[in-house]
Amino acid sequence: MMQAPDRRDLCALCGRSKDSVSRLITGLYGAICSDCVQLCTEIVDQEGTRARNSDSHPFPAAPTLDPEFTKARLPKPRSIVEFLSTYVVGQDAAKRALAVGVYNHYKRTLDSTPGRTEVSKSNILLMGPTGTGKTLLAQTLARMMHVPFAIADATSLTEAGYVGEDVENVLVRLYREAESINGADPKKLAERGIVYIDEIDKVARKSQGGTSITRDVSGEGVQQGLLKILEGTIANVPQNGGRKHPSQEFIQIDTTGILFICAGSFEGIEDIVRRRQQGAVMGFRNAPEKALDVVPTDVVPDDLVKYGFLPEFIGRLPVIAALNPLTEDDLIRVLTEPKNSLIKQYKHLFELEDVELVVETSALREIAREAIRRKTGARALRALLEEILQEAMFEVPSLPDVQRVIVPKGILEGNARPIYLTELQLRETG
Ligand code: ADP
Repeated sequence: MMQAPDRRDLCALCGRSKDSVSRLITGLYGAICSDCVQLCTEIVDQEGTRARNSDSHPFPAAPTLDPEFTKARLPKPRSIVEFLSTYVVGQDAAKRALAVGVYNHYKRTLDSTPGRTEVSKSNILLMGPTGTGKTLLAQTLARMMHVPFAIADATSLTEAGYVGEDVENVLVRLYREAESINGADPKKLAERGIVYIDEIDKVARKSQGGTSITRDVSGEGVQQGLLKILEGTIANVPQNGGRKHPSQEFIQIDTTGILFICAGSFEGIEDIVRRRQQGAVMGFRNAPEKALDVVPTDVVPDDLVKYGFLPEFIGRLPVIAALNPLTEDDLIRVLTEPKNSLIKQYKHLFELEDVELVVETSALREIAREAIRRKTGARALRALLEEILQEAMFEVPSLPDVQRVIVPKGILEGNARPIYLTELQLRETG
């Protein structure tokens, strides 16, 4: 006879087993995992903030914690934006577009009304420079909705039969992720997961406008391959991934409820938008050749077709959101404000040595300025902090008297080095 699993081996909120979570805290009648503890703390924190602000809006619905997704527990777009904002700085327009897209997507998949109006799928296209939060937004959404999340790189996908990765392998990864969430049916969970396809702009075929710098026919093949799964199909997914062969076992995954978020930087799209806008006014020949380095917010589907996408492919990505490059002030906020911001993480690392880390405001600004120079958005921040703090992280554990490490002004733009202060020095300086 099979034994029912001990309730204290599973998280009572998300159903995952102790093997698939980092910590499971066991109580008298059940257990809760560290991820759910963190999520609950965030909800309570947000609730506190809202209560203090005496906002007239009802408190955002709790993120969907139970694997049994229900319409009643589906977070509203406003609370989705609020949740995203605890992790992602700025990008308000993209957050709103995503929140509405995600809300409509799950509302539609949860709608079982007989004779209902068929609402078409709202997959999402995120356009914006590298390091501006596209992946982070998608990841945070999946976390909030408590659904499995898989990332694929469009450049590694191939049309069936060619060397490379089959498009269906994205679904294998999603299924694997769903399997790690114990206590629920992995197929069911995968069928409402989120798939993030990065570098989608690199599978544009060489466009009529000649702006696309990417590959040609194979790109179009990948678009063709993706069409069906974006739209909703029953995909035969090889259980163990890899290339399909006859002796392999297959799982059937219905992609209708899977939300696809495609993303890319779309270099050169601004020329197409500008030509369209100016062409409409004065004909293109007179258009000035000034290039913008941001994705315009007014990209229309036809611009994407000119960029090198099949009209039917773009038709399956009806929600388009543009992300802005992060400014110096945004980058300072990225360093300090999100729940798990880099500065908070490094402070915590030093705290574990009983040392306080202080990064002066002017040093933060220098770091942000250098990140802008490196042109990789917020991605540069971690590397910069690592460079700045590496020596201190090496030395301080062997210097038991040190109580405070200060990253001063001039750390990047002068010859300054981190300053170590002992308890005595701290007392002397008051
Ligand atoms: P991309 O737009 O290239 O997908 P990512 O989302 O992967 O960028 O961001 C790269 C890193 O920078 C991540 O570690 C993320 O934490 C940080 N980051 C980027 N944009 C933001 C933002 N708007 N708010 C907070 N952190 C950000």
